Amino acid sequence: MTQVRPNISTGQPEIRQLDDSAINRIAAGEVVERPASAVKELMENALDAGATRIEIAVADGGKTLIRVTDDGHGILPAQLPLALARHATSKIDGSDLLNIHSFGFRGEALPSLGAVGRLTITSRAKEASEAAMIRCYGGRTDPVRPAALSRGTVVELRDLFHATPARLKFLRTDRAENQSIGETVRRLAMADPFVSFILRDVSGGGEGRVTFRADAETGDLFEALRARLAAVLGRDFADNAVKIDAEREAFHLTGYAALPTYSRGSSVAQYLFVNGRPVTDKLFVGALRAAYSDFLSRDRYPAAVLFLNVQPQMVDVNVHPAKSEVRFRDPGTARGLIISALRHALAEAGHRASSTVASATLGAFRPEPMDAPRIYQMDRPGAGFQRPAGTTLAAAYQAQAPGFAELGPAWSARVEPMAEATPDLERLPLGAARAQVHENYIVAQTADGIVIVDQHAAHERLVYERLKAQMAEKGVPAQALLIPEIVTLSESDAQRLLDVAEALHRIGLTIEPFGPGTIAVRETPAPLGEVNAEALLKDVLDELADEGDSQMVQARIDAILSRMACHGSIRSGRRMRSEEMNALLRDMEATPHSGQCNHGRPTYVELKLADIERLFGRRG
Ligand code: ADP
Ligand code: MG
Repeated sequence: MTQVRPNISTGQPEIRQLDDSAINRIAAGEVVERPASAVKELMENALDAGATRIEIAVADGGKTLIRVTDDGHGILPAQLPLALARHATSKIDGSDLLNIHSFGFRGEALPSLGAVGRLTITSRAKEASEAAMIRCYGGRTDPVRPAALSRGTVVELRDLFHATPARLKFLRTDRAENQSIGETVRRLAMADPFVSFILRDVSGGGEGRVTFRADAETGDLFEALRARLAAVLGRDFADNAVKIDAEREAFHLTGYAALPTYSRGSSVAQYLFVNGRPVTDKLFVGALRAAYSDFLSRDRYPAAVLFLNVQPQMVDVNVHPAKSEVRFRDPGTARGLIISALRHALAEAGHRASSTVASATLGAFRPEPMDAPRIYQMDRPGAGFQRPAGTTLAAAYQAQAPGFAELGPAWSARVEPMAEATPDLERLPLGAARAQVHENYIVAQTADGIVIVDQHAAHERLVYERLKAQMAEKGVPAQALLIPEIVTLSESDAQRLLDVAEALHRIGLTIEPFGPGTIAVRETPAPLGEVNAEALLKDVLDELADEGDSQMVQARIDAILSRMACHGSIRSGRRMRSEEMNALLRDMEATPHSGQCNHGRPTYVELKLADIERLFGRRG
């Protein structure tokens, strides 16, 4: 860093006006963080110009070339120098910063790009007879010259950050920058399904190409959006998502939200657009979590693409130089709308979701309030209906109360034979195991109540604590696979795993490259026992995506261990013998933090006899 130099004669620091080139470079620092931010600004300009087809060509991760070509309304030759002037824009007149209908409004992108790269704009305005071009190198602008172009605008940015080598050093590998550019294109492609997007990598052989074509056949927004989301996020998402279309006060929410069964291990598939602008907002992540809280555990993240539209006056977009954040005038209403619209849509799709947790069931275990009619039916068999001859009680219940089926198909629970009385164990905090029900819950008797343990969640926690302890001591031991398991992933995913292969090896997971996009798993962490290597790798990937690169190494390893623990745990559905159950309970008592699973859910609940009596109306 340069020190402020005191004036030699007086020793007083001197304040001086920076020149335009310095001002532009400083501003560029905020707007253009990396190639993907340049791509974003240029694509937004094309969309603002009403383009219906946008082509993005990049080379070397965007470091040597970014070229965005559009068929929008273009720029008049005489206006080209203004496009490169700071704070010059055609999108607002400056009188009302809260009435913005375009992506751009700051008039900063092009001058910033011209300050940090070699920028050429070639354009032909709709009403112009000829095209023209202008260049800006390192902040110096050349005069406008005639050019050849039939329509629209081509903006070419070469050698980004060539003038600021310090900035260059902060860029990541071409692969990482390409990944980020791809994400930028996907995001904007979701926002406008009626525009075609083509992303090409022209470095080397020019292999990579991603195309999102607008389907001109249908004018229906939801149809077009579903098709676009299928192209961007995969057919799976589109097939498993429900349509959202709801209004509250000034807000209108549309989009698609995935069924709980189609959830992810991180928030990578959550997209929010406010008035068409992709934004990252904590409010959104929290609202999604709340909307799915009945259906998903905390470690699963719903996938959703939502568009929140509101009069521009209700939201301030001028809070972030890259315009990726917004501030709502009424965040409560926005949040409430997202939660209620999603809950409603998910409830309607209830039969499609296979892994719902009936909140009524949980409600029944809380002393108050008791608003669970299904439970009453359960307590008083025969009171409300006739059981058809020859059917089981369970089938009859299901026929009578369709919702009851959601409680799980295994209503005819297996109850293990009673263990003999064990007064010694009953005095322990988690009591003596008495039964296993639904092949996942251990029911134990304590001195003054009962304990119900989620065996999977509990075991997961125990495995995690064990892994952590082993890791701290001497590294997690690995178990070699007899035959290496070959897992096929996308090329970028495979590379992301190989990048951290060394760290993974220390926690017992040994992987090797096995051809493009393919990985050979040679060893898995021994404490996990037999695991599905592919599922394990995918979870590790999700974890990597979630935490980014900034996380502390230790925190990341913990997070990966926690993920791994899920794989080594007793799955629900496994029968346990009485001794095994008691061993688990004792293990839990001896292990710190075992009362909650790795994701903050309880591993057991306790019902005091008094509560049970209240439940049956024996007590007030
Ligand atoms: P802003 O988008 O905030 O107005 P920019 O620096 O990105 O600022 O662009 C400056 C001006 O150049 C825009 O207001 C617009 O008039 C013009 N412009 C930029 N890109 C294009 C394009 N692809 N097509 C037509 N006009 C454009
Ligand atoms: Mg712009």
